[in-house]
Amino acid sequence: MSELRTLKVALLGCGNVGAQVARILIDDADALAARTGARLELQGIAVRNLDAERDVELPKELFTTDAEVLVKDADLVIELMGGIEPARTLILTAMRHGACVVSGNKALLAQDGPTLYEEADKAGVQLSYEAAVAGAIPILRPIRDSLSGDRITRVLGIVNGTTNFILDQMDSTGAQFADALAEAQRLGYAEADPTADIEGYDAAAKAAILASLSFHTRFALEDVSCEGITSVTAADIAAAKEAGFVIKLLAIAEKLVDEDGKTGVSVRVHPTLLPREHPLAAVRGAFNAVFIEAENAGELMFYGQGAGGTPTASAVLGDLVSAARRIVLGGPGRTETTTGHVPSLPIDAAVTSYYIGLDVADQPGVLARIAQLFAEHGVSIEIMRQTIHRDADSNVESAELRIVTHRAREAALAATVEAVRRLDVINSVTSVLRVEGV
Ligand code: NAP
Repeated sequence: MSELRTLKVALLGCGNVGAQVARILIDDADALAARTGARLELQGIAVRNLDAERDVELPKELFTTDAEVLVKDADLVIELMGGIEPARTLILTAMRHGACVVSGNKALLAQDGPTLYEEADKAGVQLSYEAAVAGAIPILRPIRDSLSGDRITRVLGIVNGTTNFILDQMDSTGAQFADALAEAQRLGYAEADPTADIEGYDAAAKAAILASLSFHTRFALEDVSCEGITSVTAADIAAAKEAGFVIKLLAIAEKLVDEDGKTGVSVRVHPTLLPREHPLAAVRGAFNAVFIEAENAGELMFYGQGAGGTPTASAVLGDLVSAARRIVLGGPGRTETTTGHVPSLPIDAAVTSYYIGLDVADQPGVLARIAQLFAEHGVSIEIMRQTIHRDADSNVESAELRIVTHRAREAALAATVEAVRRLDVINSVTSVLRVEGV
């Protein structure tokens, strides 16, 4: 294969993912050359610490701390450092010097994607980031390429393995949130500081990326309404289970028409009740899945490992081969289309169902008063179940009410819950969760 041209590859970062990418680039060099039509030659690997132990044995002479020099002389740059800076500046420098860039950096793409996409367009290079959403799962290219002749109407994703593991653990063992989180940390599924995962920020970054590609419009992190899983209790999970639901943290992007007739996209992340027979309900442990509804294709589901060095490296290499093929063929092609300009709608415009748990006084007429309040707000009740409890010490009876509503505007549902909360017969609103897939 000596007649093939050589493309110079710079790798930024040699951690969980970077080390595996380097290994595959070296071990599978011939196969990658055959698929690409060019030899992908790893020129150097930028790291912070030259003496750090690596997961993979790699030639010492490849390592450098001077990332800038490396990116200025590359055809292809793989950014796997993470964080905002210096990753952002290095990617911009690489593109200005004519390199195509592959990145897995969802935080950077969600925060400053538009600047990066603009620079890629200006420089005529490709910027790809399959690994940034759902790790190994090929999801961005199917949305961008395979479905580009269709119209996506809705995307529902389990895109954070840590929270899926925690919720699955709570569902299967009855554990409280704190215990399930501790177990996730013990098994290495959650970081010592789990904030970005459990507060939904990581899923929100991925939701912004999914929404942007699905609706051909650039959505930023601030367009995503975000709620994490820290307030989901074992009682919520048990009640959901009893009613035939499972609770998942979903990233949702869907086309809606708001009350004023304006079409837009609602992008949000929140714990959601799904019927147990919904395909996403079967996604267990730390796995990820993305469920897409498109006008012509109908329903599609993509499932697999959302993290891990080797699985994520697979997505990075796929992007790299695709970018290299374009260089060989003589042009970057269009990386992204932003022809939609669909406005993002606030969470109030979302149309969803609610599951509401209420602790109420056990008095005659309570159910009728609650039902009337729902009717006054234009929210109809699909299921209402009551369980009576007697306090052994005081002998006072109270009732636990579980209500599932029909689909209604988020604003009407929120106003109904507020009105219910103020009723004198309500001891407390024990849970309010959104329901999808019914
Ligand atoms: P990681 O294990 O923390 O590795 C980061 C690497 O970048 C390290 O080798 C580090 O060098 C290097 N680095 C960091 N700052 C640097 C700087 N200022 N200059 C030079 N080198 C620097 O990260 P990772 O888990 O591989 O993740 C990499 C990227 O992929 C992130 O954007 C992440 O969000 C994304 N991603 C990761 C996964 C996953 O499963 N891990 C999945 C999907 C996407 P030293 O080793 O010398 O410290």
